[in-house]
Amino acid sequence: MKRRAVALIAGYCFLHCPPAAFAQPRVAAQLMDDLTVYELQKDVLLVTHSYPWPGNSLLVRLNRTNWVWADTPCTPEATRLVVKWLYMKYGERIRITEINTGFHIDNLGGNRELLKWKIPTYGSSLTCELLRTKSKKTMAKMIDLLRGPENEKYRDAYRSFVFSPPTNRFDITKIQTLRLGGNTVEIYFPGPTHTFDNVVVYFPDKRVLFGTCMVLAADAKSAGYTGDADLARWPESLRKVAKRFPRAALVVPGHGEPGGPELIEHSIRVVERSRECQE
Ligand SMILES: [Zn+2]
Repeated sequence: MKRRAVALIAGYCFLHCPPAAFAQPRVAAQLMDDLTVYELQKDVLLVTHSYPWPGNSLLVRLNRTNWVWADTPCTPEATRLVVKWLYMKYGERIRITEINTGFHIDNLGGNRELLKWKIPTYGSSLTCELLRTKSKKTMAKMIDLLRGPENEKYRDAYRSFVFSPPTNRFDITKIQTLRLGGNTVEIYFPGPTHTFDNVVVYFPDKRVLFGTCMVLAADAKSAGYTGDADLARWPESLRKVAKRFPRAALVVPGHGEPGGPELIEHSIRVVERSRECQE
């Protein structure tokens, strides 16, 4: 009887309990059908843009004036809606600083819009170089994945997409610390992963780590798009991230739901499995 009760409770939990502590964050704004802002915790907002794959960018308020945005939505149009919403909600005197964590469309597709608002964008020189030399090929591979009539609008948009590189460039091999009104943000490159230029962004005051596409969500069963990845070195790079930020409490992947530091271990396992499958 007792065992049955335990089984019933376990069954109930399996069906009804949220899979992770951050499974159901509050929706702060629904800006379009495919563009949602979630409040993960005070002053930490997750922006999800599905274009067509749901991708994350993270807005963190450091202090009264300064916000940092790690990555952008995929398009200038979606980026405009988020910027307008942010200024409307928090006042036009706030300052936004953008950090691009890689050269893919889900990292910096919105840069062109940020230029119009004179919002500074930071990214590595390697990101600028890959944008020049590799982006066309990557976009062509993505167009190949976008099959069927329902994806025609995305294929068209991807084909004619105009990228803007970040306006402030840094050397990816050196750890970057941005100081904004007394608070700091760290940009760290652990080595090649999902791409050769992906960097993570850490907010020490909030203990929040934006892991970009090198960190996978808890329900991810594959490494995702690996056309630009270094599967062999990816796990080792993730170990370096875990070692560098042992205090990270909230970890935000490039796609899917946020979680805790266990997402890094999980990503290592998934990438190692993907590598074995390819060998
Ligand atoms: Zn991505």
